[in-house]
Amino acid sequence: MTVNLDAQRLVTSLLTHTREGIVITDVEANIVEVNNAFGELTGYSRAEVIGRNPRFLQSGHHSPEFYVELWKTLLEQGYWQGELRNRRKDGRMLAERMSLAAITDAHGATTHYLGIFSCIAASENNERHLQQIAYHDALTGLPNRLLLLDRLENAVARADRQNSLLAACYLDLDGFKPVNDLLGHAAGDQLLTMVAERLHHCARASDTVARLGGDEFVVLLSGLTRVEECEPMIQRLLSVLAAPYRVSDQTCEVTASIGVALYPLDGSDADTLLRHADQAMYLAKQAGRNRHVLFDAEHDRQVRAHRQQLSRIEAALIAHEFCLYFQPKVDLYQGVVIGAEALVRWQHPEQGLLPPSAFLPVIENHLLMVKLDHWVFAETLNQMERWQMQGLPLAISINISATTLQQTGFPDWLAEQLAEHPRIPPRFIELEIVETAALDDLKHALQAIERCIQLGVSFALDDFGTGYSSLAYFRRFPVRTLKIDQSFVRDMLVDTEDMAIVESVVNLAQAFQRMVIAEGMETALHGAALLRLGCHCAQGYGIARPMPAEALPDWVRAFKRHPLWSASTEPETLPLLRVESEHRTLARQVDDFLQGVFTHTPVVGDERACRLGRWCTLQGRSLYGRLSLFQSIELLHHRFHALAQELIDLHELDSKLSTKRIPELYAVCDTLIEQLYRLQQELSTNLIRS
Ligand code: C2E
Ligand code: MG
Ligand code: MG
Repeated sequence: MTVNLDAQRLVTSLLTHTREGIVITDVEANIVEVNNAFGELTGYSRAEVIGRNPRFLQSGHHSPEFYVELWKTLLEQGYWQGELRNRRKDGRMLAERMSLAAITDAHGATTHYLGIFSCIAASENNERHLQQIAYHDALTGLPNRLLLLDRLENAVARADRQNSLLAACYLDLDGFKPVNDLLGHAAGDQLLTMVAERLHHCARASDTVARLGGDEFVVLLSGLTRVEECEPMIQRLLSVLAAPYRVSDQTCEVTASIGVALYPLDGSDADTLLRHADQAMYLAKQAGRNRHVLFDAEHDRQVRAHRQQLSRIEAALIAHEFCLYFQPKVDLYQGVVIGAEALVRWQHPEQGLLPPSAFLPVIENHLLMVKLDHWVFAETLNQMERWQMQGLPLAISINISATTLQQTGFPDWLAEQLAEHPRIPPRFIELEIVETAALDDLKHALQAIERCIQLGVSFALDDFGTGYSSLAYFRRFPVRTLKIDQSFVRDMLVDTEDMAIVESVVNLAQAFQRMVIAEGMETALHGAALLRLGCHCAQGYGIARPMPAEALPDWVRAFKRHPLWSASTEPETLPLLRVESEHRTLARQVDDFLQGVFTHTPVVGDERACRLGRWCTLQGRSLYGRLSLFQSIELLHHRFHALAQELIDLHELDSKLSTKRIPELYAVCDTLIEQLYRLQQELSTNLIRS
């Protein structure tokens, strides 16, 4: 008995609590019981329906045959299931999933019918709602990342089918954070919603606009035939977004930075495409915002290659693959070695010995540059100590990059290094500042330099004359030495302008009481010329090439002054230096003209118009006219100008032949200079002067 009571209670509870509507009829199909959910779903109360045939719920949606079929199944099989369209009490349609069952007694005779139904529309709505949450951004209602990826994959497939282009535009707002910070998050949200609306309006029906979160959006432009086609669309996006917004009673402005990656040019799958568009967006930000940047596959390749190179160089530092070479610096006038410059090399296990140009540009402005400079410095001090123990105390110049010099704490680091090597006098160390143009905080650099000078080291301005602001640095920095850039020194004998620059730098240094050293002194003749201009110190292949540390002591011991350098310091009796450079320059100009490099016809015919010609007429002939050496110089000089003119004339008639004969001109020029040097030497040793 208790069992029956419990069961009954259970059934009652089931009827009360279940979310499905339940209706029970007698065998005549008159309603005998309904549950609460029935009322909620249909709008009818229990009292209104008891005793009635459920047919009153029919909406007219189904045909009479439908009901015949329904009853037929129910009677024959005792069961029917399907969808019904009924009408609620308030007239609205009620779509329901219905299960009908015949309830039988112990003998199998039907006593009741049971109907259980649920609302289809509700579950459909629910599903739609869930989808909305899963695939859309709650704030703006735009597709979210998930749906975007799905759309992107479809768009990629479509682009493949149609052989068209697809542009993924990654968009990040500029100046959104201040709005959020100053006007509050609600205002920020409002602004984002407005942005979403503008984007949505701007896009074509076939495009997708999605929000990835924060102030990042993506617009997919599909069906493009040419890359250029997306430009006007993106311009429109930019200008639409840049228009003022009215948020929380305030007018505010934001713009967008857009990165664009194109399928199939910039990526073969959705993920890559979005990543590349994102990268391009960062470049748009860096380039000044409110603009778009197309992803550049070549640039990306370079960036990745650069990253690889960086890690290779870092590994090389750890593996001790770098080493130092040293190039001597000499005083030509006194004929003594005054020191050496430390130059870094990479002993690459596969590629052999690499010069700085092979790896320094890679680490420019990178922390690795600082690490390398530190290593060079420490290693140089160790080497100086070794030489000192061998009885060779040498002053060494060390190159230091702007990046390293500008590191906060550089002077402290330097002090520590010096303290670790107490046997090395700091005045033996000179720091060469390179790439001065890269010093972006002059005041700070100046402070660092001054502190280093207090520690006892000195500074040189390297490659002087090449930086556009060399003079400004020279004036502001307490540097001890100017290093004339090798490009001027190398060509000074064949280029009067370079000669003039070298001369000017020497004068500048003298006027400001700085030391001056020429780098790139390639031949002994260059040395002679430098001495004549008043530059006594030099460094270059004409003295020695950079060499391993072990080779330096022997080289220093064996060093001897070149004979040319002693003669050259005597006072000038003829304008030899300028004469030399003038004629070498002329020869090169004729050469360039004949080869078609130079279009102006050089003026060469008149030997009296040049410096040597004038000197011969004004002084030379009266002073030395009787010397056979002088007479042969005059002849050679005449020959030089006549030949130059002849070749220029010949050029019109037979340009091939004229170019073939260029070496003749250089030969005459060399002999002329040689003879002039001989004359100079003889004059200065007073052999003939009486
Ligand atoms: P730099 O400081 O101006 O060094 C002079 C460069 O000219 C050296 O090239 C040297 O080998 C080369 N050279 C010397 N004499 C002659 C010559 O007569 N003719 C020609 N054509 N070249 C000559 P290197 O060793 O390849 O170094 C190139 C640059 O790399 C250096 O120019 C310097 O700016 C930089 N560098 C070298 N070592 C270091 C270093 O340890 N740290 C830093 N930050 N930079 C370094
Ligand atoms: Mg240097
Ligand atoms: Mg230099």
